[in-house]
Amino acid sequence: MHDGIRAGLSELIADPARVLAAPAVLDRLSHDFYWYSPILRGKLASKCCDVAVQAVNVEEVLAVLRFAGRHEIPVTARGAGTGNYGQCVPLEGGIVLDLSQMDKLEEITPEGVAVCQPGLRLAVLETEARKAGWELRMYPSTLAKASVGGFLGGGSGGIGSITYGQLRDFDNVRAFEVITMEDPPRVVLHEGAAVHEILHAWGTNGILARIWFALGRAVGWTQFTAAFETYLEAFRFTQSIAVDGIWTKRLATVFEWPIPSFFTPVKQVVRDGKALVLIMIATSQLELLRVAAEAAGGEVTFAGKYEGPRTQPLLSDYTWNHTTLWAMKADSAYTYLQCGFSPADCEEQFRLLRERYGNEILFHIEFMKNGQGVVIPGAIPVVRFTTEERLNDMIAYCRSIGVFVANPHVNYLEDAGRFRADNIQLRAKERYDPRGLLNPGKMISFRREAVAP
Ligand SMILES: Cc1cc2nc3c(=O)[nH]c(=O)nc-3n(C[C@H](O)[C@H](O)[C@H](O)COP(=O)(O)OP(=O)(O)OC[C@H]3O[C@@H](n4cnc5c(N)ncnc54)[C@H](O)[C@@H]3O)c2cc1C
Repeated sequence: MHDGIRAGLSELIADPARVLAAPAVLDRLSHDFYWYSPILRGKLASKCCDVAVQAVNVEEVLAVLRFAGRHEIPVTARGAGTGNYGQCVPLEGGIVLDLSQMDKLEEITPEGVAVCQPGLRLAVLETEARKAGWELRMYPSTLAKASVGGFLGGGSGGIGSITYGQLRDFDNVRAFEVITMEDPPRVVLHEGAAVHEILHAWGTNGILARIWFALGRAVGWTQFTAAFETYLEAFRFTQSIAVDGIWTKRLATVFEWPIPSFFTPVKQVVRDGKALVLIMIATSQLELLRVAAEAAGGEVTFAGKYEGPRTQPLLSDYTWNHTTLWAMKADSAYTYLQCGFSPADCEEQFRLLRERYGNEILFHIEFMKNGQGVVIPGAIPVVRFTTEERLNDMIAYCRSIGVFVANPHVNYLEDAGRFRADNIQLRAKERYDPRGLLNPGKMISFRREAVAP
């Protein structure tokens, strides 16, 4: 990139030290956990921005976008960079807009809505909310690092989704201010249903600048694990807890053996050869849960209070997409899929997959509530990777037997599972980023030439 561009940006930012150009820094800020996918690994490793800017307020973001628009330079927003589809990897270089320093928690309203800047870390929000009698409705297993803006921009749900659904459900995201890439850029408030135009659009149609994020009433939680002889026994027990509204829970997870063998730091909760169940349960229901697990043939292997993000061991570090990380640490040939099984037919779907793929697919279930209020067996199965053809065959076969797949091995929104069929994210991109400068290449249905001048 032209040195003049860096110099121009330095004039817009109060402290020029926040305009970054060192190659190692640019490489780090251009990458996320894309390497989770053996397919994306080769495609994205060499991609890099030309310059990174650490904005600290809305005025600086507006100035950077105005400058980028004038010079037709791509801009890719970045929170903490924990996305696992290469969501914040700049495919066409340009500017990485690092928002991690816009991290203020402005307020928690008496109704339990957090008002914050996008770079606020979820763990900080969880800690502060619990002090005020609230807690996050849901968080990704990357709680410690991930930002609120990055979660809304690229995440979907996580711990808590069994009660509150996903980010897109039940007014969990109340509103946000979006900075557009129009000429000139503007700050636009999106509230209610209008949040869905921007939510989970990977920063392709606006930059989230101020967020109203609904919280839930804080609960005293206990982390609970139990080992079962077989996967099906573990699954059926967990499903019975997951779907029954009498249980107050934040997490209901099942791991088929040998997945628990990958969890070396907590091997005391694992039993050799057995499936493992991990539940976050209201402490007031712990003894009832213990009785239920033992009656179902389980051995309770751990029960310990959750005291916030610093709890040790923090068992959510083994759930959701962290499970994949532990599997890859144990054997780099492992990768994953993101699936939704049918509540009624899942056991037949498990059987069909096992019959066709054997232990190439290992079951890891995360129960979650869908938008209709039904608790379903979501899943992030661990998959042994051999070839791209074999992986695509597995995805196609899953879909043919009614298993939903959000493909985590593509780098664009349309096939990655959360793209809206009503195209409102695309319409918002046409409106707010007609020149296609925000995170280009990630919304492939956008056609610059289709936007009227
Ligand atoms: C080990 C592991 C476990 C994970 N577990 C989960 C999980 O349980 N649930 C889940 O949903 N995800 C999960 N993820 C994915 C990821 O961690 C989450 O999506 C996380 O919330 C991303 O936050 P971040 O701050 O790192 O965002 P980033 O990776 O920085 O950004 C994510 C996307 O949002 C865009 N973006 C960032 N900030 C803004 C902004 N202010 N405005 C507009 N767009 C923006 C970026 O351009 C990018 O496209 C996991 C990933 C890993 C590696």
